[in-house]
Amino acid sequence: MMNPIGCHGLTFTDAFTAADFDTTARRIAAAGFDLYEVPLMDPWGFDAARGKQVLDDLGLASVVSVGHDGPTDISQEDPAQARAGEELLNQGLQQAHALGATMLTGVLYSSLKRYGKAVSAAGRSQSQQILGRIADRAADLGMDIGLEIVNRYETNVINSLGDAAAFAEEIGRPNVKLHIDTFHMNIEEVNLYDPVLAVADRIGYVHVSENTRGYLGSGRMDFDQFFRALAIIGYGGPLTFETFSASTLSADFAGLLAVWRNFYSDPDDLAAHAAQYMRDGLAHARSTSSVGPEQG
Ligand code: MN
Repeated sequence: MMNPIGCHGLTFTDAFTAADFDTTARRIAAAGFDLYEVPLMDPWGFDAARGKQVLDDLGLASVVSVGHDGPTDISQEDPAQARAGEELLNQGLQQAHALGATMLTGVLYSSLKRYGKAVSAAGRSQSQQILGRIADRAADLGMDIGLEIVNRYETNVINSLGDAAAFAEEIGRPNVKLHIDTFHMNIEEVNLYDPVLAVADRIGYVHVSENTRGYLGSGRMDFDQFFRALAIIGYGGPLTFETFSASTLSADFAGLLAVWRNFYSDPDDLAAHAAQYMRDGLAHARSTSSVGPEQG
């Protein structure tokens, strides 16, 4: 099977005019990717029909990601925040569908921030109920929704693959998929292998990132182990390179993601390297993996 190899738009810029969308799409295609993950920075202003034409011309597939900010947090027991959050998710879903994407993903279940206390039971349950409704609308459109699992400093709802699988089970819709990310797994999981096998059936999307978020292979991440796990579970979905650098983000967005340093200065070179690294790593894992206990 062939996994689409993707690139997150924020590798290049967080500017999101139509011209920026086009430029980013061209750079992603030129770097050798099959898929553009579109961070929907302007959910109501984005012209998705026009964007679809650009992607079709370049032969790129897409996945759309959205994020809540304070006023749209569906994990908070505040009706106004919950309502605004559901509206944002619905808008994201419509835009993703119009763009031709088959998945809406991201930290859909809460804000992306450091919370000062644990999520309440009622807030968690409310988040699940709203996501259930979004999942039903997505199913009507033939789409999946992804729950991106991020580390403890970025949400208080789900930080591990196991917790996320339980959260998704409780929502009770088959098109709610887990979106796993090596950067966050590196912080929260025992390794990059066993948790993947444990939740294999639910995984629908993958972010690949070095622990520094720099060049793949330049840090301490055991990507051989990770690609082996994906090969063994027969994962056929996208693998998307995600990285950020202070040099390519606005100050506000860099602050949201705590990106203070520059881990690359040439995003085109970084992205082309990542595309090849992921293709080679997967191919190697496929040719050498068999089901069995992890060695080393
Ligand atoms: Mn990610």
